Amino acid sequence: MPRIIFMNDRLVPEAEARVSVFDHGLLYGDGVFEGLRSYAGKVFRLDAHLDRLWASARAICLEIPLSKAAVAQAVNDTLAANKLSDGYVRLVVTRGAGSLGLDPNRTRNPQVIVIADTISLYPREYYEQGLAIVTAATQRVQSAALSPRIKSLNYLNNILAKLEGLRAGCVEALMLNHKGEVAECTGDNVFVVRSGSLLTPPPDAGILEGITRNAVMELARGEGIDCREATLTRHDLYTADECFLTGTAAEVIPVVDIDGRTIGPGTPGPITQRLTTAFHALVRA
Ligand code: PMP
Repeated sequence: MPRIIFMNDRLVPEAEARVSVFDHGLLYGDGVFEGLRSYAGKVFRLDAHLDRLWASARAICLEIPLSKAAVAQAVNDTLAANKLSDGYVRLVVTRGAGSLGLDPNRTRNPQVIVIADTISLYPREYYEQGLAIVTAATQRVQSAALSPRIKSLNYLNNILAKLEGLRAGCVEALMLNHKGEVAECTGDNVFVVRSGSLLTPPPDAGILEGITRNAVMELARGEGIDCREATLTRHDLYTADECFLTGTAAEVIPVVDIDGRTIGPGTPGPITQRLTTAFHALVRA
């Protein structure tokens, strides 16, 4: 069924949702985005996603031409127009059309686009049995070059690592920063459990500070689980009791094999399972 798309100020049929070939979002990946989830008609942590979108835009000197309230309304309207109560929303803001040069000052009309679709979940067995992942040779881009905290339309760094994962038969790949520390996966944050404590890399390890990550950290603290940000190496992952990934699309997904090393007993661990249950309850609350 053709979808209804929000473009700037109104809902239009998919076939009419078009951007200029001169849009710097297309020409240079100059723009920002968010991926959100709606559960039973309610968008999970909409405000946090809007805050992150605005922070990303601010970091690249892009002024979003709508208010946060208007974008929130657009997200809800797009879901409703597509009759989706459980769905995935992609929110995109491009720099707008300009000259063929890089200069963002010579662009006009940033495009605000909201796409709502059904969510294609990973198969159930991935959640029941856990994922095998590999470390990508492609490093996470250095913060001093382009901060991974900006959710920009420039995702080639992640895509190159994703290709490495796929070639190794894995749906996710682990990315290290230029110091060799664990950063995150190509589209998910990473956690380990060690001696009952939950550990995840800090934002300055070169990660996108995930909304799901932050929700899981809150849930862990609520469950009385010691939870901290910590610099992690691959050794810490290989020798962890449990490992899991978090992301808007994946939610909480166990990892049982990294680079051919079995993690813990090779099955999803008890803390992973507790947090998965707590997360499911939270999104439906
Ligand atoms: N890291 C990267 C690089 C991502 O693209 C994503 C998904 N947006 C995440 C982590 C997870 O973030 P969130 O929980 O906000 O979806």
